[in-house]
Amino acid sequence: MSEQEAKTYPPSINELARSIRHTGVPWALLVDAARLAVQAGDPDIATELAHGFALSLIRPVVNGTGVLLHTNLGRARLGRFAIHTGPANLEISLETGKRSPRGSSIGMLLKRLIGCEDAIVVNNGAAAVLLAVAAIARGKKTFVSRGECVEIGGNFRIPDVVAAAGTELVDVGTTNRTKVSDFRDAVANGGDTSGCILRVHTSNFRIDGFTQSAPIDELATLGVPVLFDLGSGLLDSKTPWLRGAPPVWLSSEPGAKQALRDGASLVTFSCDKLLGGPQAGVIAGDADLVQLCAREPIFRALRPSLQVLSALQDTLLAYIERDCSRLPFWASAMAPLAQLENRAYAIVSALKPSSAAEVVSSRSVVGAGASPGAQLQSCAVSVPLLCGDQLRRRALPVIALHRGGHTLCDLRSVLPEEDHHVRDAFQEALGA
Ligand SMILES: *Cc1c(COP(=O)(O)O)cnc(C)c1O
Repeated sequence: MSEQEAKTYPPSINELARSIRHTGVPWALLVDAARLAVQAGDPDIATELAHGFALSLIRPVVNGTGVLLHTNLGRARLGRFAIHTGPANLEISLETGKRSPRGSSIGMLLKRLIGCEDAIVVNNGAAAVLLAVAAIARGKKTFVSRGECVEIGGNFRIPDVVAAAGTELVDVGTTNRTKVSDFRDAVANGGDTSGCILRVHTSNFRIDGFTQSAPIDELATLGVPVLFDLGSGLLDSKTPWLRGAPPVWLSSEPGAKQALRDGASLVTFSCDKLLGGPQAGVIAGDADLVQLCAREPIFRALRPSLQVLSALQDTLLAYIERDCSRLPFWASAMAPLAQLENRAYAIVSALKPSSAAEVVSSRSVVGAGASPGAQLQSCAVSVPLLCGDQLRRRALPVIALHRGGHTLCDLRSVLPEEDHHVRDAFQEALGA
């Protein structure tokens, strides 16, 4: 519309809003878009503005990145659990009718799974570390190996967390080698001000070569509590919920059960990363120390909701029943390559032969900083054009990868029942 026309016929906001209803945005937001477009002097941008609103709302996407726990895509996909919407017996004992602690079923299930005496749940892994260090070492020293003074991402940096917990960080050893004697000397020097030893799973990078770290069973003899922040890793390094021995890509991942057995006083981990469950964090271990954490005033500020706890409970029940088919993370991670290839060929053969779509081999990763360097053989559907933007702006967005002039969709992070969306998305992009 030219400036002249706009002056002659000022567009009706109402009419303009009605004309962009196909975007599926609520009426009040359509009116906002129409008003903004008219103010900008270009009614034609109203559709784009409304689409922008629509795309900014959280919606399901198809994860074609091959990253199984993609932090930007919400990490673990939850199984088809009965998530309790409420009311439910969150803080009441059905036996006595009296008040009971929130999350007590989680503690009970974790006792069975990792042999802890007690456990509590907070909103994420970062909160678990913060709370545990604060409860045990506030006003005292926290000893951390120089090789484990790490940044996990999203601004989670061990020195900052230790400082925020009100304790003084003492670096021990060197970047590549830290010995038990380094810790022994540091703890002795600290005397009464020695608070705890914090071991951190260097979950998102790897140092190779001339390295040494202090084993937990020896640290446990030094007279201060040993906290082990696993972050990711495994509930039990023997993976009894999988058939056969643990797969190679998991072979160097620490187990919470083994860390406690070796003498760690507390372990902390992220439930989305370590379990493939909902976003939450766990502090588990000695009953006295867990209760010390539970009595911290900030615990109240970190507590998860009924919905999160019920999803976490079902995740743990799946581990107890050794039924990981209920856990999408394990179903994806363990899917045989031949199965992925069959699915990829089925998608490619449904696309036009002239499209030059092909099946290529690729490498999936666990993601979210878990199992660094571990790659899972996978395969992808590839088309020789860059159409990732278009795939992402669909009503059901497909998040794909650009690589060397091609757009790839890795099928290990896609569920079989989503394959037709991948096919349709590529079809649209190729037809355009
Ligand atoms: C991921 C991670 C955290 C933080 O967990 P979130 O659930 O992301 O908050 C802490 N420590 C380690 C070692 C981690 O890998």
